[in-house]
Amino acid sequence: MLCNMTEICKPTLTHHFAIPAFNTGTSMVLRACIEAAEEANAPVIVEIHPDELRFARKSFAKMVIEEAHNTKVPVCLHLDHGANLEDVMTAIACGFTSVMIDGSALPFEENIAQTKKVVEIAHAVGVSVEAELGTIGTMEGNQITYTRPEEAKEFVERTGVDTLAIAIGTRHGLYPKGLTPHLELELLKQIREAVSIPLVLHGGSDNPDDEIEQACLTGISKLNISSDIKKAFYVKARQVLKDESLREPGDIYPPCIDEMKKVMRQKMDLFHTTGTAVLY
Ligand SMILES: [Zn+2]
Repeated sequence: MLCNMTEICKPTLTHHFAIPAFNTGTSMVLRACIEAAEEANAPVIVEIHPDELRFARKSFAKMVIEEAHNTKVPVCLHLDHGANLEDVMTAIACGFTSVMIDGSALPFEENIAQTKKVVEIAHAVGVSVEAELGTIGTMEGNQITYTRPEEAKEFVERTGVDTLAIAIGTRHGLYPKGLTPHLELELLKQIREAVSIPLVLHGGSDNPDDEIEQACLTGISKLNISSDIKKAFYVKARQVLKDESLREPGDIYPPCIDEMKKVMRQKMDLFHTTGTAVLY
C-alpha cells in the first residue's frame, strides 16, 4: 500500500510508536525493507537521498512504487535531505509521495520562505513535506543547534509543513568511540506540546536503545536509520566474499540482506512499530 507521509504517520500520534525510515540506495536494501516490514506486519518508510537516487537512477523509484503497490503493509517513498527545488521537483516527477527540504543551515526566515514554497508546490499534487529546524551534529565536528519549542511552533504555523525534523541530541553517522550521545527528552516533550504534527529524528544509529525507545514513546513519529543497516550488510558481504569462487549475486547477496533485515526488525521492535500495520 503506497502512502504519503501524513497518511503513514497518522496512527503514530495516537498509538505512540515511530516508523523507521531506511536509506535505500539499492534494490537489495529495498528487498530487505519490504520483507522486514511484511514479516513484522509493520509500516515502513523507504527513504532515498538525492545522492542515492543519482546512483540508483530515477527508474529505481518506479520499482519502489511497484513494490509498495504489491504489498499489504503501508509504504511511503520519501526524499531524504532535498537541498533545493531541483531535488524536490525531481523526486515529485519520479513519483515520491513525500519530500524533505532541508533548510536547517539557513537563517530562520529563509528556512521558512524556502519550506513554504516547497509546501505549496508539493501539496498541489498530494505530496507531504518534511522540513528541519535546528541542526543535527555530524562526525566532522559540527555542533548541535537544539530546536527551540517556540520557534518550532512558529515555523509549523507559517510554513504548513507536514512533518518536522528536530535537533535534540542526535548526530548523523556512527559515533566514534568515547563519544556518548545524549538525547534531550525534556526538550522533546516541550516541542511535542508546542506543535501537533509528526516529529522526526535523524541520525539515531548510535544513540542508546533506551533513549531512542523513550523518544518513540514521547512523540517521535519517524526515525531515520542509515549507517546501522549498511554496516550489517557490508560486514557480512566482506565475510561472504572471502570465498573467491562466488560470483552469482543470488549466492552473494541473500545472507547480506538477511543480516540487514535482522537490524531492521530490531529497530521495528525498539520503535514499537512491529504489528502496527493493523492500524491502517
Ligand atoms: Zn538526516
